[in-house]
Amino acid sequence: AKSNGGSQYRFYSKELNASIKRMVDMEASLRRALEENEFYVVYQPQTDIASGRTIGAEALVRWNSKAHGRVSPADFIPLAEQSGLILKLGQWVLEEACREAKRWEQAGWTSLKISVNVSAKQFKQPDFADVVKDILKDTGLDPRKLCIEITESVVIDKLMFTLKMLDELVALGVEISIDDFGTGYSSLSLLRQLPISVIKIDQSFIAEMVEVQSVRSVVAAMITMSHHLGKTVVAEGIESEQQMAWLREMGCDNGQGYFIDKPLTAELMRARLKNIS
Ligand code: C2E
Ligand code: CA
Ligand code: CA
Ligand code: CA
Repeated sequence: AKSNGGSQYRFYSKELNASIKRMVDMEASLRRALEENEFYVVYQPQTDIASGRTIGAEALVRWNSKAHGRVSPADFIPLAEQSGLILKLGQWVLEEACREAKRWEQAGWTSLKISVNVSAKQFKQPDFADVVKDILKDTGLDPRKLCIEITESVVIDKLMFTLKMLDELVALGVEISIDDFGTGYSSLSLLRQLPISVIKIDQSFIAEMVEVQSVRSVVAAMITMSHHLGKTVVAEGIESEQQMAWLREMGCDNGQGYFIDKPLTAELMRARLKNIS
């Protein structure tokens, strides 16, 4: 039994070493990826559910690594957070997205908004609002066209700091959205007291809505409550006509998902905008 346990230990430690090595390799590549231009931003259209009109897009970062191929943000964003690289990367994405949104504005699509994901580490930098201000100034984007997406956990942690940062951002004229709503521990009553204008219902609710009637009721309640608090509601991860129909009936304001459009390269997004207007 003892020798068996020993070999099992060796087996696991080999696996563990391999996965640690992969992470270390990936982190090293990640550090070089910005200079090597391996990142790009894709844009997933968001539409007004009632009218079907495109109202803007969410910017999502992509990494096409020479060494590792296409790596999912679900894998490299946590790595970038741990290593602190997220500060540079996040700033790059924000700038890139604002520059692209400015191009839309100049091309005559003047009402489109751009939503950008901001990680906890970025948001917690005391100078984050100054970074946003500089990017808006450099790109010339109307601040009202920018929506910053933060998650619930960011909001709850260090509430006083959060309040101050949100106030600074709102003073610039940008909108704040709560991403993945329903997966954390914040409540709508807490959000009521914060200058947040958009609630983004997490895609897990939209997925489960199909099979589970009680989840449908929860989604309906989230929409109603958000509206009572004066917030706009976005549903993400819409994959079917049926989900779309339910959300329309529930009065959900905006939607995003494969049923509407996949995330598109900047070029494809512009082509799509040309087609609809
Ligand atoms: P998220 O912010 O919740 O983004 C939504 C994710 O759902 C995206 O995955 C998007 O491609 C995917 N999605 C869109 N429509 C559908 C659908 O109909 N069905 C399903 N199943 N999925 C759909 P993606 O691009 O892989 O990004 C994953 C996560 O990585 C994001 O989740 C976000 O947390 C993070 N992320 C992506 N880009 C950035 C970024 O620039 N900065 C930061 N800090 N985080 C980012
Ligand atoms: Ca998001
Ligand atoms: Ca989300
Ligand atoms: Ca998510």
